[in-house]
Amino acid sequence: MSSTFIPQRAMFIFAHPDDIEFGSAGTAALWSKNGCDVTYVVLTDGNIGSHERGMTAAKLAQIRREEQTNAANVVGARCLFLGEPDGMLQPTLDLRKKLVRLIRQYKPNVVVCGDPNFYYSDSYINHPDHRAAAQVALEAIFPCADSPLIFPELLEEGYEPHKVNYVYISFGRRESNCYIDISETIDTKLTALKQHKSQMKDWDPEERMRQWTAETGKKVGFKYAEAYHRITLKEIEEETAPEAETPGDEAQRRAQEG
Ligand SMILES: [Zn+2]
Repeated sequence: MSSTFIPQRAMFIFAHPDDIEFGSAGTAALWSKNGCDVTYVVLTDGNIGSHERGMTAAKLAQIRREEQTNAANVVGARCLFLGEPDGMLQPTLDLRKKLVRLIRQYKPNVVVCGDPNFYYSDSYINHPDHRAAAQVALEAIFPCADSPLIFPELLEEGYEPHKVNYVYISFGRRESNCYIDISETIDTKLTALKQHKSQMKDWDPEERMRQWTAETGKKVGFKYAEAYHRITLKEIEEETAPEAETPGDEAQRRAQEG
């Protein structure tokens, strides 16, 4: 199926700076420009991803947070960092609780995350951080975000249970059950991706990204597309969709700017 659905609030949960840009920033940009409140949650700082002499993990963390924040700004998303260890990410209960807190705070109708499988093609093993990020995101969404009796301290902090309506698992170029037409936001996706200068170096990702998203789009007749496995947890009823109690600074700023 292809989808023209625009959620009111979406949260993207991924392991590293640049993961969102590669897989789903076209979707984030499309939703954002149509009024969706978009939150990125980046679990690690991606701060072991350098072979450069003289680079330190602390310095790289700062660079990559800046690049990721710039990439989020390109699509109009707020960006939160959890500072988990890059390369050693684990789907711990502690991290799950942090995500449950954020889901209850921002009340996304849709959460977009990665794929928790070990492998999904004959030429690729899923990165352990990507697998862990996907697993902990899914475990936070179901059943914890909606269960008042798990993490009771969150209730005491005022975070009421929240049910996510749909989960979009980023599926790259594989067969999927949901295709988002990103023809009008492919340029924004590329601009966002190019913010990750420390990773791109001299490589211009444009040709490769256009090729990948065009291959995906071809399956459903779009010029460019991003693909997902979409899971419906609770069909949305627009008139009863809950309002976020704490939309956050960025949303307030945007609301004030009209
Ligand atoms: Zn990654």
